Amino acid sequence: MKKFNLVKEEIEDLKDITNPDILFIGDSYFQLLRQSPMYMDYSFFILFEKHKALNIGVGSTKFKDWLYLLDEITYFPKFKKIVVNLGFNDIHHEEDTKAEEVYSDYLCFLKKLRGIFPDASIYVLTTVISPLYYSIRNRINYFNSLLRESASKLGVKIIDNAANIDYFQEKENCFIEDGMHLNYFGHKKMSELILKELSISNTPKGRIFSIEEFSIYDGPGIRSTFFLKGCPLSCKWCHNPEGKVFQKQYIRSPNGCLKCNKCLDKAIKVNDKYVLTKESQEACPRNLIKLCGDDYSVDELVNLILKNQEIYKMNNGGVTFSGGEPTLQYSFLIEVCKRLKGKVHVALQTCGYLKPEAFKELLQYVDYVLFDLKIIDNSNHIKYCGVSNEWILENYSTLVDSNVEFITRTPLIPVVIDNFNNLEAIARKMNSLGVKNIELLPYNKYSGSKYSWLLEDYDFDEKYKQVEENNYASIFSKFNINVKIM
Ligand code: SF4
Ligand code: SF4
Repeated sequence: MKKFNLVKEEIEDLKDITNPDILFIGDSYFQLLRQSPMYMDYSFFILFEKHKALNIGVGSTKFKDWLYLLDEITYFPKFKKIVVNLGFNDIHHEEDTKAEEVYSDYLCFLKKLRGIFPDASIYVLTTVISPLYYSIRNRINYFNSLLRESASKLGVKIIDNAANIDYFQEKENCFIEDGMHLNYFGHKKMSELILKELSISNTPKGRIFSIEEFSIYDGPGIRSTFFLKGCPLSCKWCHNPEGKVFQKQYIRSPNGCLKCNKCLDKAIKVNDKYVLTKESQEACPRNLIKLCGDDYSVDELVNLILKNQEIYKMNNGGVTFSGGEPTLQYSFLIEVCKRLKGKVHVALQTCGYLKPEAFKELLQYVDYVLFDLKIIDNSNHIKYCGVSNEWILENYSTLVDSNVEFITRTPLIPVVIDNFNNLEAIARKMNSLGVKNIELLPYNKYSGSKYSWLLEDYDFDEKYKQVEENNYASIFSKFNINVKIM
């Protein structure tokens, strides 16, 4: 593997990058967005995953500091396209910084970049802020005008977000409250502009780690369930660990393993953990290692599903999108659902963790939702699932108010979920919304078996052995809720 000196978070990506086309340079804010599951899908999945681009995000308040970063990188692939985004740090945060000063730093940076990549097309984004944000507007406008004027001299192309402010304001508000940072819709718009300029098709691809045929537990009738890779939650008891991360992973099957450890000799260590590689796969004498995660275009998946359209109808079934968390790949999922609308019954199995605006949009294209309610106390939700449950509870209320058929499901995870207080809180929440039915999913003590596929340990059972004897029917019947134990 080639050696890079980049921030730690980028190491994972680099393992995958063999022939990258695009280098995206943004500030630490963009690096954070890149990591955020909520944004990975809309804007950055397309830019970074599909086209194998490398993102550099640096935590700096001065753009000229970035120059040092370029010096630090010991190897650069031959990027064909480079996108530079000033971001917000320099020009927004320091009131006394003049537009000319920032511009002069920018020039140094672009010249250096040009020196390293003489043949690449360099694209520079102008900075966009809400028209309502007055205090630094003049400074930003002036800075943008300097950039535009000098573009041809510098041999760079401008992607003029700022000139497209109407596009940003078209339908939704595209900024968060500070008027500077773009929200979910803003990033979607910005990425559309970038993709257009770079002549990259905006058709998303989805990543699926398993397909289960003839499933009878994932919605009405007999169904095919598609498990989409990646989840924004990090539940310790997750029984599909290979579905937790979006990146493709090499996994090994234990059946027939000779325990020769030839695969480990070729594994790499990331954060003190072994990660299997292509070389591990090649080294295995039993061919037990496979790459988990297959990419599908919208057309490919829709055509695959429509081939069985009649069979689904005959069995009063359809398809279910599960995961991982299917909504993590939102733009792919919604395109597929739009295309299937009215042709095949579509169910969504979700933990509910996605932007409420996006959830509302998605609800228009699904026929049935299996919604997980896990933990009502927010601090416990953060402790055990890694994220706040605010969006989840808001989306649950939206679902209840909608016309979409749904079922509430709760996995009976010992101690963490399966405890009287939490179950009663779930019952109370449901009752407050007038929901009458719940399905409880008993804990499967073999659910940790897949962790060894990824060379990981599963220690949940050890820590949470003690099981409460709860009378589920009585907890829920107090709130007029029918319980079905699956
Ligand atoms: S997975 Fe293959 S290489 Fe690894 S220990 Fe088992 S048999 Fe050996
Ligand atoms: S929400 Fe489901 S898929 Fe995601 S980590 Fe939790 S258990 Fe696993």
